[in-house]
Order: sequence, then structure tokens, then C-alpha cells
Amino acid sequence: AEERRRIAERFDSLARLSGAIAHDFNNMLNIVLSFTTFTADAVHDATGSPLSGDDAAAMLADLDRISTAGKRAAYLAHQLLTFGGREVVALTVLDPNAVIAEVTAMLGALGPRISTVTDLQPDVRNVLADGAQLTQVLLNLATNARDAMADGGVLTLTSRDVTVTGDGRGPALGPGRYVCLTIHDTGHGMTAEVLDRAVEPFFTTKPKGHGTGLGLATAYGIARQSGGDLLLESEPSRGTTVHLYLPATDDPVAHVTAPAAGPAGVGH
Ligand code: ADP
Repeated sequence: AEERRRIAERFDSLARLSGAIAHDFNNMLNIVLSFTTFTADAVHDATGSPLSGDDAAAMLADLDRISTAGKRAAYLAHQLLTFGGREVVALTVLDPNAVIAEVTAMLGALGPRISTVTDLQPDVRNVLADGAQLTQVLLNLATNARDAMADGGVLTLTSRDVTVTGDGRGPALGPGRYVCLTIHDTGHGMTAEVLDRAVEPFFTTKPKGHGTGLGLATAYGIARQSGGDLLLESEPSRGTTVHLYLPATDDPVAHVTAPAAGPAGVGH
């Protein structure tokens, strides 16, 4: 319990700092990206101007580089905002099995010699979570699983109902009903030292340019913001299991209705 409190405190202070930085960073980045788009459009329109075709093509290639770098930075800022708790969370009632089905369809073939298996409880309860964030968490975890299975293996996603009694064992959650989703891989696993630090923001063992160290931090942040928890289990060469707990609800899945259409023909 002491260990978990230490992790939570370290996480909270880093999350506050990162959230504040990412917020300003993101605003500036949006300006850079908008003006890149405006300028590219202007160059496109400048056919027949003093610019030769070659100059225009070179400028467009440069703008494309700016835009690619900017988008990568925006993705990082988005991850920072999410785990920093700055992203607006829209909790809705979701069917976890439907979310898993959607994610496995998005994953397609994860990599050579990697197969994906699901083991879902048919009548599993609904959960309260942000759909876009839950999808992001599952994709982050699946990406980690793939990275750990460079020589192939099996990714297994499961869902099941759990009741937490609050006797201090198991996840650090209030008593109640939850749904536990697990993401299991048969990859290289983690040493005790890596496992201890894995959730820490910016901790990564991946080569430069491959890992941000924010995948698990984001997943943990989202789990906590949803009133759930994230637990890791891993052993070198035996693989890894991530347990994601989300609060269950008796409410039915809300059917999303299309927003009312605005007046026709009105431009921006
Ligand atoms: P990143 O993937 O960018 O490194 P994460 O926060 O997602 O950041 O993961 C942190 C570290 O935890 C990884 O660099 C890796 O060492 C370890 N890790 C995470 N998931 C797994 C996994 N499924 N199998 C083995 N190691 C993992």
C-alpha cells in the first residue's frame, strides 16, 4: 500500500507539471500548424506568379517537413495532456466487448508471427469511461505487446466482471463492481527493476526515437481518471499481463445520436 501511494504521488506531481507544459506547448503548436497550412495553400495558388514551378515545389516540400514534425509534436502534447489530466473527459456508458472488438479490428495484423486472441465474458457489464481514451489505452498496450514480441507470440485480450471487497488486497479501488480487461502477451517480459518503473512518465527502455515512455503513464492516468486502476504483472521471458479495472454500471449503452444539423448553406 505504501509503495502504491509513493507511485501515485510521484505520478501526480509529474502529471501536473507535464499537463501545464503541454497545454502551452499545444497552443503554440496549433499556431505553427495553421500558418503552415495557410502558406502551403498560398504557394499552391501562386501558379503563374514570379515563383518558378521548381521553387514552389521546393517550398511545398519544406512546408511538408514542418507539418510532419509539427504533427508528431502535437501527438506528444496530446499524450502529455491526457496523462496530465488536462484532456476533457467525456464519461459514457460503453460495452467493453464492443470496444475490444473495435480495437482488434483496428490492429489488424500486429506483426509477423503475432496472433491476436480474445476471450470475452459474453454478458460482461457495461463500464463508464471515455470511449476515445479507452481505445487509446488499448492501442498503447497492444503496441507495447507487439514491441515485446519481435520474434512472434500471442496477444490475448479478455474481459470479465469483478467485485472488489475493499479488504486491502487486489487493486487499490473502493469496494464495488468493476470490469477487468486484461492485455496479455507472450513477449520478453520485464525485470523487477523495469516493472517497478514502467508506469513512471518518460521511463522507456526502447531505443531513442522509438519510445516516449508515456504509453503506460497515459494508460494509468486514464484508468485513474475513470475511477479505475491499472496493474502490471510481468516476468522476464514469460510475458506481461496488464489488468485494467473500470467501474461497472447497470446503465445501458447510450445510443449516440447525430448532432442536429445547422442551417443549410451557412458558411464559416
Ligand atoms: P514506451 O513504450 O514508449 O517505452 P511505456 O510507458 O508504454 O513507454 O512503457 C515503458 C517501458 O515498460 C517500456 O519501454 C518497456 O521497457 C516496458 N514495457 C511496457 N510494456 C511492456 C510489455 N508488454 N512487455 C515488456 N515490457 C514492457
